[in-house]
Amino acid sequence: ANPVSHPSRGASMNSAAEPAPTYRTGFHIGGRWVSPLGTDEISVENPATEQVIGRVPAGTAADVDRAVAAARAAFPGWAALAPTERAAHLERLHRRLTARAGEIAHTVACELGTPLKIAARVQAGLPLTVLDSYVTLAASPPEEETVGNSLVVREPVGVVGAITPWNYPLHQVVAKVAPALAAGCTVVLKPAELTPLVAYLLFDAVDEAGLPPGVVNLVTGTGPVAGAALAAHPGVDMVSFTGSTATGTQISRLAADRIARVSLELGGKSANIIFEDADLAGAVKVGVGNAFLNSGQTCTAWTRMLVHRSRYDEAVDLAGKAAGGYRLGDPFDPATRLGPLVSAGQRERVRGYVERGLAEGARLVTGGLDAPVPDTGYFVAPTVLADVDPDSTVAQEEIFGPVLAVIPFDDDDHAVAIANNSKYGLAGAVWSGDQDRAVAVARRLRTGAVDVNGGAFNPLAPFGGYKQSGVGRELGAHGLAEFLEVKSIQR
Ligand code: NAD
Repeated sequence: ANPVSHPSRGASMNSAAEPAPTYRTGFHIGGRWVSPLGTDEISVENPATEQVIGRVPAGTAADVDRAVAAARAAFPGWAALAPTERAAHLERLHRRLTARAGEIAHTVACELGTPLKIAARVQAGLPLTVLDSYVTLAASPPEEETVGNSLVVREPVGVVGAITPWNYPLHQVVAKVAPALAAGCTVVLKPAELTPLVAYLLFDAVDEAGLPPGVVNLVTGTGPVAGAALAAHPGVDMVSFTGSTATGTQISRLAADRIARVSLELGGKSANIIFEDADLAGAVKVGVGNAFLNSGQTCTAWTRMLVHRSRYDEAVDLAGKAAGGYRLGDPFDPATRLGPLVSAGQRERVRGYVERGLAEGARLVTGGLDAPVPDTGYFVAPTVLADVDPDSTVAQEEIFGPVLAVIPFDDDDHAVAIANNSKYGLAGAVWSGDQDRAVAVARRLRTGAVDVNGGAFNPLAPFGGYKQSGVGRELGAHGLAEFLEVKSIQR
Protein backbone atom coordinates (compact mmCIF):
# COMPACT_ATOMS: atom_id res chain seq x y z
CA ALA A 1 0.00 0.00 0.00
CA ASN A 2 1.12 3.52 -0.69
CA PRO A 3 2.22 5.75 2.15
CA VAL A 4 -0.36 8.53 2.47
CA SER A 5 -0.17 11.97 4.00
CA HIS A 6 -3.44 13.71 4.72
CA PRO A 7 -3.82 17.20 3.29
CA SER A 8 -6.82 17.94 5.45
CA ARG A 9 -4.78 17.30 8.57
CA GLY A 10 -1.29 18.25 7.44
CA ALA A 11 -0.22 21.24 9.52
CA SER A 12 1.78 22.76 6.67
CA MET A 13 -1.19 22.68 4.34
CA ASN A 14 -3.73 24.87 6.04
CA SER A 15 -1.54 27.29 7.90
CA ALA A 16 1.71 28.76 6.62
CA ALA A 17 1.79 27.10 3.22
CA GLU A 18 -1.72 28.01 2.14
CA PRO A 19 -2.13 31.71 1.35
CA ALA A 20 -5.26 33.73 1.88
CA PRO A 21 -7.74 33.31 -1.00
CA THR A 22 -6.80 35.22 -4.14
CA TYR A 23 -9.50 37.44 -5.58
CA ARG A 24 -8.73 38.84 -8.99
CA THR A 25 -11.38 41.14 -10.32
CA GLY A 26 -10.07 42.38 -13.67
CA PHE A 27 -8.88 41.44 -17.12
CA HIS A 28 -5.63 42.72 -18.59
CA ILE A 29 -6.58 44.54 -21.80
CA GLY A 30 -4.69 47.23 -23.70
CA GLY A 31 -1.91 47.40 -21.11
CA ARG A 32 -4.04 47.88 -17.99
CA TRP A 33 -6.34 46.08 -15.60
CA VAL A 34 -9.98 46.68 -16.60
CA SER A 35 -13.29 45.69 -15.02
CA PRO A 36 -15.30 42.92 -16.68
CA LEU A 37 -18.43 43.92 -18.58
CA GLY A 38 -20.42 41.09 -16.99
CA THR A 39 -20.78 39.95 -13.38
CA ASP A 40 -20.17 36.19 -13.50
CA GLU A 41 -17.27 34.75 -11.54
CA ILE A 42 -15.31 31.49 -11.43
CA SER A 43 -14.34 29.91 -8.11
CA VAL A 44 -10.93 28.27 -7.98
CA GLU A 45 -10.60 25.19 -5.81
CA ASN A 46 -7.57 23.56 -4.21
CA PRO A 47 -8.02 19.90 -5.24
CA ALA A 48 -6.04 18.64 -2.24
CA THR A 49 -8.22 20.40 0.37
CA GLU A 50 -11.45 20.85 -1.65
CA GLN A 51 -11.47 24.48 -0.39
CA VAL A 52 -12.15 27.51 -2.57
CA ILE A 53 -8.87 29.43 -2.75
CA GLY A 54 -9.67 32.14 -5.24
CA ARG A 55 -12.06 33.82 -7.61
CA VAL A 56 -11.64 35.34 -11.05
CA PRO A 57 -14.11 37.00 -13.41
CA ALA A 58 -15.83 34.95 -16.12
CA GLY A 59 -15.45 36.87 -19.37
CA THR A 60 -18.20 37.32 -21.93
CA ALA A 61 -18.08 37.71 -25.71
CA ALA A 62 -18.07 41.48 -25.16
CA ASP A 63 -14.93 41.25 -22.99
CA VAL A 64 -13.25 39.12 -25.65
CA ASP A 65 -14.25 41.71 -28.25
CA ARG A 66 -12.51 44.46 -26.29
CA ALA A 67 -9.36 42.37 -25.88
CA VAL A 68 -9.22 41.49 -29.58
CA ALA A 69 -9.63 45.18 -30.47
CA ALA A 70 -6.68 46.03 -28.20
CA ALA A 71 -4.53 43.30 -29.77
CA ARG A 72 -5.47 44.49 -33.28
CA ALA A 73 -4.56 48.08 -32.40
CA ALA A 74 -1.20 46.98 -31.01
CA PHE A 75 -0.32 44.69 -33.92
CA PRO A 76 1.14 47.13 -36.49
CA GLY A 77 3.50 48.75 -33.98
CA TRP A 78 4.66 45.46 -32.48
CA ALA A 79 5.13 43.83 -35.90
CA ALA A 80 7.20 46.82 -37.04
CA LEU A 81 9.67 46.62 -34.14
CA ALA A 82 13.14 45.31 -34.88
CA PRO A 83 13.53 41.67 -33.77
CA THR A 84 16.17 42.73 -31.24
CA GLU A 85 13.69 45.19 -29.68
CA ARG A 86 11.09 42.44 -29.28
CA ALA A 87 13.81 40.23 -27.81
CA ALA A 88 14.65 42.95 -25.28
CA HIS A 89 10.98 43.08 -24.18
CA LEU A 90 10.91 39.29 -23.79
CA GLU A 91 14.14 39.40 -21.82
CA ARG A 92 12.63 41.91 -19.36
CA LEU A 93 9.53 39.72 -19.09
CA HIS A 94 11.76 36.70 -18.41
CA ARG A 95 13.53 38.60 -15.63
CA ARG A 96 10.25 39.70 -13.99
CA LEU A 97 8.78 36.20 -14.25
CA THR A 98 11.94 34.60 -12.84
CA ALA A 99 11.58 36.82 -9.78
CA ARG A 100 8.18 35.19 -9.26
CA ALA A 101 9.32 31.56 -9.64
CA GLY A 102 8.56 30.71 -6.01
CA GLU A 103 5.12 32.30 -6.19
CA ILE A 104 4.40 30.46 -9.46
CA ALA A 105 5.28 27.04 -7.99
CA HIS A 106 3.22 27.79 -4.89
CA THR A 107 0.20 28.95 -6.90
CA VAL A 108 0.22 25.88 -9.17
CA ALA A 109 0.64 23.61 -6.13
CA CYS A 110 -2.51 25.24 -4.70
CA GLU A 111 -4.75 25.40 -7.78
CA LEU A 112 -3.66 22.15 -9.48
CA GLY A 113 -2.19 20.08 -6.64
CA THR A 114 1.23 19.41 -8.16
CA PRO A 115 3.63 18.57 -5.28
CA LEU A 116 5.53 21.79 -4.51
CA LYS A 117 8.98 20.34 -5.23
CA ILE A 118 7.86 19.09 -8.66
CA ALA A 119 5.92 22.32 -9.28
CA ALA A 120 9.12 24.32 -8.71
CA ARG A 121 11.04 22.21 -11.21
CA VAL A 122 8.37 21.69 -13.88
CA GLN A 123 5.48 24.13 -13.45
CA ALA A 124 7.75 27.14 -12.82
CA GLY A 125 11.10 25.98 -14.22
CA LEU A 126 9.91 24.75 -17.62
CA PRO A 127 8.09 27.93 -18.74
CA LEU A 128 11.08 30.03 -17.66
CA THR A 129 13.36 27.83 -19.78
CA VAL A 130 11.00 28.13 -22.75
CA LEU A 131 10.65 31.91 -22.39
CA ASP A 132 14.43 32.20 -22.20
CA SER A 133 14.79 30.19 -25.42
CA TYR A 134 12.52 32.69 -27.20
CA VAL A 135 14.58 35.65 -25.99
CA THR A 136 17.34 34.22 -28.19
CA LEU A 137 15.08 33.08 -31.05
CA ALA A 138 13.26 36.46 -31.16
CA ALA A 139 16.54 38.21 -31.87
CA SER A 140 17.39 35.96 -34.81
CA PRO A 141 14.21 35.13 -36.77
CA PRO A 142 14.36 32.97 -39.93
CA GLU A 143 16.51 34.57 -42.63
CA GLU A 144 15.01 35.86 -45.87
CA GLU A 145 15.80 33.57 -48.82
CA THR A 146 16.32 34.13 -52.51
CA VAL A 147 14.75 31.45 -54.72
CA GLY A 148 15.42 32.17 -58.41
CA ASN A 149 13.97 35.63 -59.06
CA SER A 150 11.96 35.56 -55.82
CA LEU A 151 12.66 37.07 -52.46
CA VAL A 152 10.98 34.93 -49.78
CA VAL A 153 10.11 36.84 -46.61
CA ARG A 154 8.30 35.92 -43.42
CA GLU A 155 5.74 38.11 -41.66
CA PRO A 156 3.75 37.71 -38.43
CA VAL A 157 0.33 36.06 -38.85
CA GLY A 158 -1.44 38.83 -36.90
CA VAL A 159 -3.65 38.56 -33.82
CA VAL A 160 -3.45 35.20 -32.05
CA GLY A 161 -6.14 33.75 -29.78
CA ALA A 162 -4.44 31.42 -27.28
CA ILE A 163 -6.61 28.90 -25.40
CA THR A 164 -4.83 26.73 -22.83
CA PRO A 165 -5.51 23.79 -20.45
CA TRP A 166 -4.95 23.30 -16.73
CA ASN A 167 -2.34 20.52 -16.52
CA TYR A 168 0.79 22.66 -17.09
CA PRO A 169 -1.01 25.97 -16.75
CA LEU A 170 1.89 28.41 -17.14
CA HIS A 171 4.04 26.30 -19.46
CA GLN A 172 1.25 25.95 -22.01
CA VAL A 173 0.59 29.70 -21.92
CA VAL A 174 4.28 30.56 -22.38
CA ALA A 175 4.67 27.96 -25.17
CA LYS A 176 2.18 30.09 -27.16
CA VAL A 177 2.71 33.65 -25.95
CA ALA A 178 6.52 33.64 -26.18
CA PRO A 179 6.86 32.46 -29.82
CA ALA A 180 3.84 34.54 -30.92
CA LEU A 181 5.37 37.72 -29.47
CA ALA A 182 8.80 36.77 -30.81
CA ALA A 183 7.28 36.43 -34.30
CA GLY A 184 5.68 39.88 -34.08
CA CYS A 185 2.11 38.72 -33.40
CA THR A 186 -0.10 40.10 -30.65
CA VAL A 187 -2.11 37.83 -28.36
CA VAL A 188 -5.36 37.41 -26.45
CA LEU A 189 -5.06 34.65 -23.85
CA LYS A 190 -7.95 32.63 -22.41
CA PRO A 191 -6.42 30.33 -19.76
CA ALA A 192 -8.10 27.22 -18.30
CA GLU A 193 -10.90 27.99 -15.86
CA LEU A 194 -9.69 25.36 -13.34
CA THR A 195 -6.24 27.02 -12.97
CA PRO A 196 -6.50 30.71 -13.89
CA LEU A 197 -4.51 32.15 -10.97
CA VAL A 198 -1.03 31.51 -12.34
CA ALA A 199 -1.93 33.41 -15.54
CA TYR A 200 -2.44 36.50 -13.38
CA LEU A 201 1.15 36.18 -12.18
CA LEU A 202 2.30 36.28 -15.80
CA PHE A 203 0.36 39.49 -16.36
CA ASP A 204 1.78 41.02 -13.17
CA ALA A 205 5.16 40.35 -14.78
CA VAL A 206 3.93 41.81 -18.11
CA ASP A 207 3.03 45.02 -16.23
CA GLU A 208 6.42 45.17 -14.50
CA ALA A 209 8.28 44.47 -17.74
CA GLY A 210 6.51 47.39 -19.43
CA LEU A 211 5.41 45.57 -22.58
CA PRO A 212 3.67 47.91 -25.03
CA PRO A 213 -0.10 48.15 -24.33
CA GLY A 214 -2.26 45.53 -26.04
CA VAL A 215 0.59 43.31 -27.17
CA VAL A 216 -0.65 40.57 -24.85
CA ASN A 217 -4.11 40.57 -23.24
CA LEU A 218 -5.85 38.36 -20.66
CA VAL A 219 -9.52 37.39 -20.50
CA THR A 220 -10.40 34.60 -18.06
CA GLY A 221 -13.61 32.64 -18.45
CA THR A 222 -15.20 29.35 -19.38
CA GLY A 223 -14.49 27.44 -22.58
CA PRO A 224 -17.99 27.53 -24.07
CA VAL A 225 -18.37 31.31 -23.47
CA ALA A 226 -15.01 33.16 -23.53
CA GLY A 227 -13.07 30.39 -25.32
CA ALA A 228 -15.64 29.92 -28.08
CA ALA A 229 -15.99 33.72 -28.53
CA LEU A 230 -12.22 33.98 -29.01
CA ALA A 231 -12.01 31.05 -31.44
CA ALA A 232 -14.91 32.44 -33.51
CA HIS A 233 -13.79 36.11 -33.47
CA PRO A 234 -13.31 37.62 -36.95
CA GLY A 235 -10.49 39.79 -35.60
CA VAL A 236 -8.42 36.74 -34.63
CA ASP A 237 -6.11 35.56 -37.43
CA MET A 238 -4.90 32.40 -35.73
CA VAL A 239 -6.15 30.21 -32.89
CA SER A 240 -3.49 28.34 -30.94
CA PHE A 241 -5.11 25.71 -28.75
CA THR A 242 -3.90 23.10 -26.28
CA GLY A 243 -6.41 20.76 -24.65
CA SER A 244 -8.61 17.79 -25.40
CA THR A 245 -9.13 16.40 -28.88
CA ALA A 246 -12.90 16.92 -28.51
CA THR A 247 -12.49 20.67 -27.87
CA GLY A 248 -9.82 20.90 -30.59
CA THR A 249 -12.39 19.60 -33.08
CA GLN A 250 -14.89 22.30 -32.04
CA ILE A 251 -12.27 25.02 -32.27
CA SER A 252 -11.24 23.88 -35.75
CA ARG A 253 -14.89 24.14 -36.83
CA LEU A 254 -15.23 27.66 -35.43
CA ALA A 255 -12.00 28.79 -37.12
CA ALA A 256 -12.94 27.09 -40.42
CA ASP A 257 -15.80 29.53 -41.04
CA ARG A 258 -13.26 32.29 -41.74
CA ILE A 259 -10.25 30.06 -42.69
CA ALA A 260 -8.33 31.28 -39.63
CA ARG A 261 -5.01 29.52 -39.01
CA VAL A 262 -5.23 26.85 -36.31
CA SER A 263 -2.58 25.06 -34.31
CA LEU A 264 -3.68 22.26 -32.00
CA GLU A 265 -1.82 20.40 -29.26
CA LEU A 266 -4.16 17.62 -28.20
CA GLY A 267 -4.23 14.34 -26.31
CA GLY A 268 -1.97 11.31 -26.42
CA LYS A 269 -1.66 7.63 -25.53
CA SER A 270 2.06 7.20 -25.83
CA ALA A 271 3.87 3.86 -25.90
CA ASN A 272 7.06 3.09 -24.00
CA ILE A 273 8.73 0.15 -25.79
CA ILE A 274 11.18 -1.83 -23.66
CA PHE A 275 13.26 -4.44 -25.53
CA GLU A 276 14.78 -7.57 -24.00
CA ASP A 277 18.30 -6.07 -24.20
CA ALA A 278 17.37 -2.87 -22.32
CA ASP A 279 18.47 -1.87 -18.83
CA LEU A 280 15.15 -3.14 -17.52
CA ALA A 281 15.27 -1.66 -14.02
CA GLY A 282 16.17 1.80 -15.37
CA ALA A 283 13.63 1.68 -18.19
CA VAL A 284 10.77 0.63 -15.91
CA LYS A 285 11.67 3.15 -13.19
CA VAL A 286 11.83 6.08 -15.63
CA GLY A 287 8.77 4.77 -17.47
CA VAL A 288 6.65 4.66 -14.31
CA GLY A 289 7.89 8.12 -13.33
CA ASN A 290 6.92 9.49 -16.73
CA ALA A 291 3.47 7.89 -16.65
CA PHE A 292 2.70 9.28 -13.20
CA LEU A 293 4.24 12.76 -13.49
CA ASN A 294 1.69 15.39 -12.44
CA SER A 295 -0.61 12.52 -11.32
CA GLY A 296 -0.67 11.26 -14.91
CA GLN A 297 -2.18 14.52 -16.14
CA THR A 298 0.41 14.93 -18.88
CA CYS A 299 -0.44 14.76 -22.58
CA THR A 300 2.88 13.09 -23.44
CA ALA A 301 2.68 10.52 -20.61
CA TRP A 302 3.93 7.05 -21.59
CA THR A 303 0.71 5.40 -20.48
CA ARG A 304 1.27 2.13 -22.37
CA MET A 305 4.36 0.18 -21.30
CA LEU A 306 5.16 -2.43 -23.97
CA VAL A 307 7.63 -5.06 -22.77
CA HIS A 308 9.28 -7.96 -24.63
CA ARG A 309 7.63 -11.17 -23.53
CA SER A 310 10.91 -12.66 -22.24
CA ARG A 311 11.18 -9.91 -19.59
CA TYR A 312 7.49 -9.15 -19.17
CA ASP A 313 6.87 -10.73 -15.74
CA GLU A 314 9.99 -9.09 -14.36
CA ALA A 315 8.88 -5.68 -15.71
CA VAL A 316 5.35 -6.02 -14.30
CA ASP A 317 6.83 -6.82 -10.91
CA LEU A 318 9.22 -3.84 -11.05
CA ALA A 319 6.46 -1.48 -12.21
CA GLY A 320 4.14 -2.61 -9.42
CA LYS A 321 6.83 -2.12 -6.79
CA ALA A 322 7.82 1.30 -8.15
CA ALA A 323 4.21 2.53 -8.26
CA GLY A 324 3.44 1.01 -4.86
CA GLY A 325 6.23 3.08 -3.33
CA TYR A 326 4.92 6.45 -4.54
CA ARG A 327 3.91 8.59 -1.60
CA LEU A 328 0.68 10.41 -2.30
CA GLY A 329 -0.95 13.20 -0.37
CA ASP A 330 -0.30 16.76 0.73
CA PRO A 331 1.41 18.67 -2.11
CA PHE A 332 3.24 20.78 0.49
CA ASP A 333 4.81 17.78 2.22
CA PRO A 334 8.34 17.49 0.76
CA ALA A 335 8.05 13.68 0.77
CA THR A 336 4.96 13.70 -1.50
CA ARG A 337 5.46 12.33 -4.99
CA LEU A 338 1.83 12.28 -6.19
CA GLY A 339 -0.78 14.97 -5.65
CA PRO A 340 -4.52 14.78 -6.31
CA LEU A 341 -6.23 15.00 -9.67
CA VAL A 342 -7.35 18.48 -10.66
CA SER A 343 -11.07 18.10 -9.90
CA ALA A 344 -13.79 15.82 -8.61
CA GLY A 345 -14.93 15.30 -12.20
CA GLN A 346 -11.48 14.23 -13.33
CA ARG A 347 -11.20 11.79 -10.41
CA GLU A 348 -14.52 10.18 -11.33
CA ARG A 349 -13.41 9.87 -14.96
CA VAL A 350 -10.18 8.15 -13.95
CA ARG A 351 -11.94 5.83 -11.50
CA GLY A 352 -14.35 4.90 -14.29
CA TYR A 353 -11.44 3.92 -16.53
CA VAL A 354 -9.88 1.71 -13.83
CA GLU A 355 -13.20 -0.07 -13.37
CA ARG A 356 -13.60 -0.47 -17.13
CA GLY A 357 -10.05 -1.79 -17.53
CA LEU A 358 -10.64 -4.50 -14.93
CA ALA A 359 -14.02 -5.36 -16.47
CA GLU A 360 -12.32 -5.73 -19.86
CA GLY A 361 -9.87 -8.30 -18.45
CA ALA A 362 -6.82 -6.36 -17.22
CA ARG A 363 -5.04 -7.67 -14.11
CA LEU A 364 -4.63 -5.28 -11.15
CA VAL A 365 -0.97 -5.23 -10.06
CA THR A 366 -1.12 -2.33 -7.62
CA GLY A 367 -3.44 0.57 -6.75
CA GLY A 368 -7.02 0.35 -7.93
CA LEU A 369 -10.17 1.80 -6.40
CA ASP A 370 -9.82 0.19 -2.95
CA ALA A 371 -6.24 1.30 -2.27
CA PRO A 372 -5.91 3.83 0.58
CA VAL A 373 -5.95 7.52 -0.36
CA PRO A 374 -6.37 10.65 1.79
CA ASP A 375 -9.99 11.26 2.93
CA THR A 376 -10.00 14.79 1.57
CA GLY A 377 -8.89 15.71 -1.93
CA TYR A 378 -9.38 14.18 -5.37
CA PHE A 379 -6.87 11.35 -5.08
CA VAL A 380 -6.54 8.16 -7.09
CA ALA A 381 -3.86 5.66 -6.01
CA PRO A 382 -1.12 4.99 -8.57
CA THR A 383 -2.45 2.02 -10.50
CA VAL A 384 -0.68 -0.55 -12.65
CA LEU A 385 -2.76 -2.78 -14.92
CA ALA A 386 -1.08 -5.79 -16.56
CA ASP A 387 -2.11 -8.11 -19.42
CA VAL A 388 -3.96 -5.20 -21.02
CA ASP A 389 -5.50 -5.98 -24.42
CA PRO A 390 -4.05 -3.40 -26.87
CA ASP A 391 -7.54 -2.86 -28.32
CA SER A 392 -9.27 -2.38 -24.95
CA THR A 393 -10.52 0.98 -23.67
CA VAL A 394 -7.66 1.59 -21.22
CA ALA A 395 -5.13 0.97 -24.01
CA GLN A 396 -6.94 3.22 -26.50
CA GLU A 397 -8.36 6.20 -24.58
CA GLU A 398 -6.48 8.94 -22.80
CA ILE A 399 -7.12 8.45 -19.07
CA PHE A 400 -5.28 11.51 -17.73
CA GLY A 401 -4.66 9.96 -14.33
CA PRO A 402 -2.06 7.75 -12.58
CA VAL A 403 -2.94 4.58 -14.49
CA LEU A 404 -0.32 2.55 -16.38
CA ALA A 405 -1.21 -0.25 -18.81
CA VAL A 406 1.46 -2.95 -19.30
CA ILE A 407 1.33 -5.00 -22.52
CA PRO A 408 3.66 -7.82 -23.74
CA PHE A 409 5.04 -8.05 -27.30
CA ASP A 410 6.95 -10.73 -29.27
CA ASP A 411 9.33 -8.89 -31.61
CA ASP A 412 10.18 -5.45 -33.05
CA ASP A 413 7.40 -5.52 -35.66
CA HIS A 414 4.84 -6.53 -33.06
CA ALA A 415 5.98 -3.71 -30.74
CA VAL A 416 5.69 -1.13 -33.54
CA ALA A 417 2.26 -2.46 -34.54
CA ILE A 418 0.92 -2.16 -30.97
CA ALA A 419 2.49 1.28 -30.48
CA ASN A 420 0.96 2.59 -33.72
CA ASN A 421 -2.44 1.04 -32.94
CA SER A 422 -3.76 4.37 -31.64
CA LYS A 423 -5.73 7.33 -32.92
CA TYR A 424 -3.12 9.47 -31.15
CA GLY A 425 0.51 10.13 -32.10
CA LEU A 426 2.10 12.53 -29.66
CA ALA A 427 5.15 10.95 -28.00
CA GLY A 428 6.80 7.68 -27.08
CA ALA A 429 9.95 5.98 -25.89
CA VAL A 430 12.22 3.10 -26.90
CA TRP A 431 14.74 1.32 -24.65
CA SER A 432 17.39 -1.07 -25.96
CA GLY A 433 21.04 -1.89 -25.33
CA ASP A 434 21.48 -1.39 -29.08
CA GLN A 435 21.09 2.33 -29.80
CA ASP A 436 20.80 1.78 -33.59
CA ARG A 437 17.98 -0.70 -33.12
CA ALA A 438 16.21 1.76 -30.80
CA VAL A 439 16.55 4.68 -33.24
CA ALA A 440 15.37 2.47 -36.14
CA VAL A 441 12.23 1.61 -34.15
CA ALA A 442 11.80 5.28 -33.12
CA ARG A 443 11.68 6.19 -36.84
CA ARG A 444 8.82 3.72 -37.37
CA LEU A 445 6.59 5.23 -34.66
CA ARG A 446 3.85 7.53 -36.01
CA THR A 447 4.33 10.17 -33.31
CA GLY A 448 5.77 13.67 -33.08
CA ALA A 449 8.47 12.78 -30.52
CA VAL A 450 10.32 9.70 -29.30
CA ASP A 451 12.83 9.49 -26.44
CA VAL A 452 15.52 6.81 -26.88
CA ASN A 453 17.03 5.30 -23.72
CA GLY A 454 15.75 8.19 -21.63
CA GLY A 455 17.02 10.95 -23.97
CA ALA A 456 16.95 14.27 -22.11
CA PHE A 457 14.19 16.85 -22.67
CA ASN A 458 15.24 19.45 -25.23
CA PRO A 459 13.33 22.76 -25.01
CA LEU A 460 14.42 23.64 -28.57
CA ALA A 461 13.09 20.41 -30.13
CA PRO A 462 9.75 20.69 -31.99
CA PHE A 463 6.84 19.38 -29.95
CA GLY A 464 3.49 18.26 -31.36
CA GLY A 465 1.36 15.45 -32.65
CA TYR A 466 0.65 13.16 -35.57
CA LYS A 467 -2.90 11.94 -36.19
CA GLN A 468 -5.47 13.11 -33.61
CA SER A 469 -2.76 14.49 -31.31
CA GLY A 470 -2.73 17.74 -33.19
CA VAL A 471 -1.71 20.08 -35.96
CA GLY A 472 1.47 22.17 -35.94
CA ARG A 473 4.45 22.29 -33.61
CA GLU A 474 5.43 24.21 -30.48
CA LEU A 475 8.84 25.09 -28.97
CA GLY A 476 12.06 26.13 -30.64
CA ALA A 477 12.33 27.54 -34.15
CA HIS A 478 9.50 25.32 -35.40
CA GLY A 479 7.23 26.79 -32.74
CA LEU A 480 8.09 30.32 -33.86
CA ALA A 481 7.50 29.44 -37.54
CA GLU A 482 3.85 28.56 -36.69
CA PHE A 483 3.23 32.27 -36.14
CA LEU A 484 4.75 33.42 -39.45
CA GLU A 485 3.22 33.79 -42.90
CA VAL A 486 5.47 33.25 -45.93
CA LYS A 487 5.49 35.76 -48.81
CA SER A 488 7.31 35.55 -52.14
CA ILE A 489 8.24 38.74 -53.98
CA GLN A 490 9.13 38.20 -57.67
CA ARG A 491 11.61 40.70 -59.04
P1 NAD B 1 -10.30 21.14 -22.59
O1 NAD B 1 -10.21 20.88 -24.03
O2 NAD B 1 -11.56 20.89 -21.89
O3 NAD B 1 -9.93 22.67 -22.25
C1 NAD B 1 -8.81 23.31 -22.76
C2 NAD B 1 -9.13 24.78 -22.92
O4 NAD B 1 -10.15 24.92 -23.90
C3 NAD B 1 -9.65 25.46 -21.67
O5 NAD B 1 -9.14 26.77 -21.59
C4 NAD B 1 -11.14 25.50 -21.90
O6 NAD B 1 -11.78 26.58 -21.24
C5 NAD B 1 -11.21 25.71 -23.39
N1 NAD B 1 -12.46 25.27 -24.00
C6 NAD B 1 -13.30 24.27 -23.61
N2 NAD B 1 -14.37 24.20 -24.44
C7 NAD B 1 -14.20 25.16 -25.38
C8 NAD B 1 -14.96 25.57 -26.52
N3 NAD B 1 -16.11 24.99 -26.84
N4 NAD B 1 -14.49 26.58 -27.26
C9 NAD B 1 -13.33 27.18 -26.96
N5 NAD B 1 -12.57 26.85 -25.89
C10 NAD B 1 -13.00 25.84 -25.12
O7 NAD B 1 -9.09 20.33 -22.00
P2 NAD B 1 -8.64 20.27 -20.48
O8 NAD B 1 -9.64 19.46 -19.75
O9 NAD B 1 -8.32 21.63 -20.00
O10 NAD B 1 -7.21 19.52 -20.62
C11 NAD B 1 -7.10 18.13 -20.64
C12 NAD B 1 -6.93 17.61 -22.05
O11 NAD B 1 -5.99 18.40 -22.80
C13 NAD B 1 -6.39 16.23 -22.14
O12 NAD B 1 -7.12 15.48 -23.08
C14 NAD B 1 -4.93 16.40 -22.60
O13 NAD B 1 -4.39 15.34 -23.30
C15 NAD B 1 -5.00 17.59 -23.44
N6 NAD B 1 -3.69 18.27 -23.43
C16 NAD B 1 -2.88 18.21 -24.52
C17 NAD B 1 -1.66 18.83 -24.51
C18 NAD B 1 -0.73 18.84 -25.68
O14 NAD B 1 0.21 19.60 -25.68
N7 NAD B 1 -0.93 18.03 -26.68
C19 NAD B 1 -1.25 19.50 -23.38
C20 NAD B 1 -2.09 19.52 -22.29
C21 NAD B 1 -3.31 18.91 -22.33
